[in-house]
Amino acid sequence: MRKVNIVGGGLAGVEACYFFLKRNYEVHLYEMRPKKMTGAHVTGNFGELVCSNSLKSNKLDNACGLLKEEMRHMDSLTMKVAAETAVPSGNALSVDRDAFSQKITEILRNFPNLVVHEKEIDGFIEGPTIIATGPLTADKLASKLADTIGQKSLFFFDASAPIVSKDSIDMNIAYKKSRYDQGDDSYINCPFSEEQYDRFYEELINAQVALVHDFDKNYFEGCMPIEVMAKRGKDTLRYGPMKPKGLQVEGREKFHAVIQLRQDNLNGDLFNIVGFQTNLTYPEQKRVFRMIPGLENAEFVRYGLMHRNTYICSPKALNKDLSLKAKPNTFLAGQLIGVEGYVESAAMGILAASFLYKKLEGKAQVIPSLKTMLGSLYNFVVNGNPDTFQPMNANFGILYGANKHNREETIQNSLVETDKFWAKVND
Ligand SMILES: Cc1cc2nc3c(=O)[nH]c(=O)nc-3n(C[C@H](O)[C@H](O)[C@H](O)COP(=O)(O)OP(=O)(O)OC[C@H]3O[C@@H](n4cnc5c(N)ncnc54)[C@H](O)[C@@H]3O)c2cc1C
Repeated sequence: MRKVNIVGGGLAGVEACYFFLKRNYEVHLYEMRPKKMTGAHVTGNFGELVCSNSLKSNKLDNACGLLKEEMRHMDSLTMKVAAETAVPSGNALSVDRDAFSQKITEILRNFPNLVVHEKEIDGFIEGPTIIATGPLTADKLASKLADTIGQKSLFFFDASAPIVSKDSIDMNIAYKKSRYDQGDDSYINCPFSEEQYDRFYEELINAQVALVHDFDKNYFEGCMPIEVMAKRGKDTLRYGPMKPKGLQVEGREKFHAVIQLRQDNLNGDLFNIVGFQTNLTYPEQKRVFRMIPGLENAEFVRYGLMHRNTYICSPKALNKDLSLKAKPNTFLAGQLIGVEGYVESAAMGILAASFLYKKLEGKAQVIPSLKTMLGSLYNFVVNGNPDTFQPMNANFGILYGANKHNREETIQNSLVETDKFWAKVND
């Protein structure tokens, strides 16, 4: 019987295990819980959800909803169990978190070809291995990874600003300009009058923040949440990320403050709010940031967040099959490779498993189509810009050819391409 090692029994790890168990491999799963806990997990179950019990929207015209459907077409364990443990939550797919992880644990443990090692792994294991230790990868393994791929290619903290779709920005209010007219007009600017600024400021400093874990309390000065910075004084933001200097426009009243948005993807249809990394809850981000002139109807494709997040600079450190350049027998999966979210991480577990499987079977690799959400996330991970690489959620901005007028066609194509991909994986 062929043998593989999987390190980490989280969302990505359980998908990878399930993939190989079904194909009759001897799977050695190394999971440190419950012997050693992370700062967020509280059980010894596999596939534990550390925070929200929601796997986001179930609708196909939602990017994460489409990714979930693609995963159903690939016999995903997490999708199967989510359906069985779902709780009512409108268009979203939410689960009873305990039932979800218990059921996953039970299904995996029932395979006679699974060998579970309850131990922390602090280096590389001999033989074909998938490392899926997630955003809270234990320190020793994280430093081993850093030694292997280079200290600058391993990140420990994720401080990201919200990203909005360009076509949801009101360009009758916002305008294009670079500060002091340097270079091209690549920034989109949202100008504030004094009155608008005052109202925005009050809401920002009083908005509800998300639960902060102990390990997340020490912010680096360079990536301080915008609401924390704002509390230092009413004008602090006007001398920082909302500085209006060099952004005035002839013929318009003098702006009291300006927020800039910077292009976030190659297609040019996603823009991030510069300097606005934040720890506000998602609903509060939507409410408060929609007070920004020009963003009244903004569509948030990713909310800002701040938490301990170990991830690698995949475009630099990984081969196209998600194996480490420095150790081609070791594959990486899950949030560690630069995706963000339960579903995205689980999807990367299936993908990494399929790559390792093809290698072990001596067959040609199969790459998922760019017309699928899976393929688009994969493409971002391996071909993203290494200088600005930050974890990515599923979103239509990264899906090849998608725009808001061709959703139905995009969805159909993605599922057809997913079926072709999966047939080839199993060939
Ligand atoms: C605090 C926090 C809150 C989050 N909230 C959400 C949310 O609400 N919604 C959402 O979609 N996403 C959320 N995420 C993001 C993310 O998608 C999840 O963390 C997701 O679980 C990542 O899946 P994964 O498989 O990559 O890692 P995990 O699910 O974290 O699995 C990794 C596993 O590896 C184990 N492990 C770590 N190091 C070792 C080692 N050295 N040896 C052996 N085992 C090890 C861990 O115990 C864990 O079981 C959150 C992340 C964090 C950190």
